[in-house]
Amino acid sequence: MGENGGKRFFTASDEDILRGRTTDVYFKRTMEVLEAKGMLGKEALAEMTVAKLPREWPWGVFCGLEEALRLMEGKDVDIWGLPEGTVFPSRTQSGIKLPVLNLEGPYAQYCIYETPMLGFLCHSTGVATMAARCRKAAGDLPMIAFGIRRTHPAISPMLDRSSYIGGCDGVSSLVGAETIGRPAEGTMPHALIIMMGDSIKAFKAFDEVVEPSVPRIVLVDTYSDEKTEAIAACKAIENLAGVRLDTPGSRRGSFTELIREVRWEMDLRGFKNVKILVSGGLDEKTLPDLARAGADGFGVGTSISNAPTVDFALDIVDIGGVPVAKRGKFGGRKNLYRCPDCFAFEVSVAEGEVPCCDRCGREMVPASVKLMEGGRRLVPERSVKDIRDGVLEQLRKVERQ
Ligand SMILES: [Zn+2]
Repeated sequence: MGENGGKRFFTASDEDILRGRTTDVYFKRTMEVLEAKGMLGKEALAEMTVAKLPREWPWGVFCGLEEALRLMEGKDVDIWGLPEGTVFPSRTQSGIKLPVLNLEGPYAQYCIYETPMLGFLCHSTGVATMAARCRKAAGDLPMIAFGIRRTHPAISPMLDRSSYIGGCDGVSSLVGAETIGRPAEGTMPHALIIMMGDSIKAFKAFDEVVEPSVPRIVLVDTYSDEKTEAIAACKAIENLAGVRLDTPGSRRGSFTELIREVRWEMDLRGFKNVKILVSGGLDEKTLPDLARAGADGFGVGTSISNAPTVDFALDIVDIGGVPVAKRGKFGGRKNLYRCPDCFAFEVSVAEGEVPCCDRCGREMVPASVKLMEGGRRLVPERSVKDIRDGVLEQLRKVERQ
């Protein structure tokens, strides 16, 4: 085994992350300089912003905060910002970069944690946002996260949690399901059918062996035509809940036509209650047409698990009450407000100066929550379901763009 601190896989342990070993070396060197110059106690206010969301997304779903807070617990830092699951634009209505999170305290207390904190938030927010975009595209139809096989297995819990928060209804991994507190969901792999020698034999064996609470959903594209296999499955399995089409791209022709045809043929034979589930390379662009064609549910993988990350950055904006900022950033301490009706945000510099929404004319309300004081959490950990419910509520109000 190569040099990896005695670990089997190429992953950082909790301990590595908590000790700052996943930071960039320049922060370690900054700490050396601050220490040598007696500046470990010098206080600074830093804010996290993003200049532009990936792929022209008009909004993101803020995610990964729970891990960031767990990282900062016990450090002498105050933290305030958007609650996890907030739907946010990158800019305020006047074009200022939105401060999604603020840290204040001796800079040396959080210097080396910038890298892992950004990592938690950039990655999770990207995944949650893509899941939310797929949620909007899928309407109210069930959508399961199938994408853990496309990423490093060590981050399956994070991916599944973020996918669920963004609006997936369930997840396929055992460990991810534990993280969100729901049973894992899935159907059957092609491998089972190939191992059993033929589809019907595999469906029957599955029905016989797998515990009765698992819905009987069978995969009908392994060896022969989807329509033929679907009808045969309907006849062979008494409590068939659904058929899954995961047709390879090279055989698809029109996937929507295929769904319509399978639906028609099953209906014609009285199997109207058998659902059609669809998977395989689905994304926010393809979901609406598939839903219109009659798909009853989706497994969405790579497009969510490998979503682009959101390029949050952390910058010092105030030292001792004096605004400071590097080029390209907006300096100074800011109070963040949001419109109670729409998704407009604004910052005000003066305490108590409340902005109004340009669109609605409404007086805005504070958008940031004080999360931590001196490294002590001020708000208890929220359940994943609670965060997700909040996201779904906001998604009903945003446009799908
Ligand atoms: Zn408004």
